[in-house]
Amino acid sequence: MNYEFLIVGQGITGSIVALQLKKSLKEFKLIEGGNPNTSSKVAAGIVHPISLKRCNLSWRGREFYDFSDTFYKEVNFESSIELYKHYKLLRIFASFEEQNNWIGKTNNEIYKNILSLNNKEIENVKNMFGSGVVELCSRLSVSEFLDFVSSLLLKGNLLKKDLFKANELKLENNRFHYNGDIYSKVIMCDGVNALKNPMFNYLPIIPNKGELLTVSSNILPSQIINCGIFSLPETKNIFTIGSTYSNEDQKNNVTVNAKEYLMRKLNKIIEIDGIEIMDQQFGFRPTSLDRKPLVGEHPIIKNLYTVNGMGSKAILMAPLLVKELLDSIYKNKPLNSMVNIKRFSKKINAENLDYAKSLEKSFL
Ligand SMILES: Cc1cc2nc3c(=O)[nH]c(=O)nc-3n(C[C@H](O)[C@H](O)[C@H](O)COP(=O)(O)OP(=O)(O)OC[C@H]3O[C@@H](n4cnc5c(N)ncnc54)[C@H](O)[C@@H]3O)c2cc1C
Repeated sequence: MNYEFLIVGQGITGSIVALQLKKSLKEFKLIEGGNPNTSSKVAAGIVHPISLKRCNLSWRGREFYDFSDTFYKEVNFESSIELYKHYKLLRIFASFEEQNNWIGKTNNEIYKNILSLNNKEIENVKNMFGSGVVELCSRLSVSEFLDFVSSLLLKGNLLKKDLFKANELKLENNRFHYNGDIYSKVIMCDGVNALKNPMFNYLPIIPNKGELLTVSSNILPSQIINCGIFSLPETKNIFTIGSTYSNEDQKNNVTVNAKEYLMRKLNKIIEIDGIEIMDQQFGFRPTSLDRKPLVGEHPIIKNLYTVNGMGSKAILMAPLLVKELLDSIYKNKPLNSMVNIKRFSKKINAENLDYAKSLEKSFL
């Protein structure tokens, strides 16, 4: 069969590419390898436009939030499930300095309707410096979102559950051939696994390990609270506590260190005696050297694209970045230079050049 696109990877990014291509009636197929420990499978799903540490709008934060808010509300409508839901996030201040900074921001026009001060008591929570509210905050139930997209694609026979192997891709007359099908374009949405394939492994992707806990408690509050780590209400008395960040630990396992760190941080704001740990998970966020996403066309292999490197903000950024990539393909609109992978073209190495050459020769 002939398709316009082959998408590799059905994490958050590949799922969003698939939904946008489907909406614009493009023919595509998606291949997903089924790794059980991907970043998307463990992501908490919290979306807001604020960098909480500095109490600033994050880079293009408002623009990303407004676009993704509309996008996920459409997904809610299409799925008839409330996969995306508005929450208030309560930030527990760690100092008077943080409190002052927050108050200053609430008087600034830019932060109107985004930040406010919390004047109510939060039951069971110790907050001697007070707390603030991020009003513009939502949560996507990521695993249910991935399941919804997967079942949508399976229904249309658009999903193949298999590992994509770069050395089995062939190129003839500007068309990609894979497993008996022909594609005009390929979009790689393979997260940290990109480091294992010779197409885009020259990009400075840094796997950042994150761990989180599932706990049961009858004292944690029903809002999302953040005190450096977060507590996220799931179902009655069940909460997700996260996350850790580590560029050093690259092992595929959960750690006692992470569990102790999360419980220690939680203990600063709530009595943890009655809290029972039920599960612990890990995943690797695809972050980049300059902390900006990695989007665009391969510098040598035409019609081969990637969307990657969204670190801890894929849910916020992916909907608009995917649209911008598709606009660059179909409307010739230039990609934002801060995300365009052109900025790393000089990093391309001998292995990548050999792969590009072998692809050209693959039909000879
Ligand atoms: C603990 C933790 C908490 C987080 N919380 C949040 C949060 O609250 N909000 C937020 O926005 N972000 C959060 N993140 C970050 C977010 O999870 C990532 O930015 C996002 O999941 C990246 O998605 P992705 O689709 O680009 O990559 P991935 O999730 O890695 O998906 C890549 C997919 O490609 C598949 N794949 C890879 N190689 C192949 C191949 N060769 N063939 C076939 N398939 C392949 C994999 O199986 C996988 O399904 C969190 C991350 C962690 C670790």
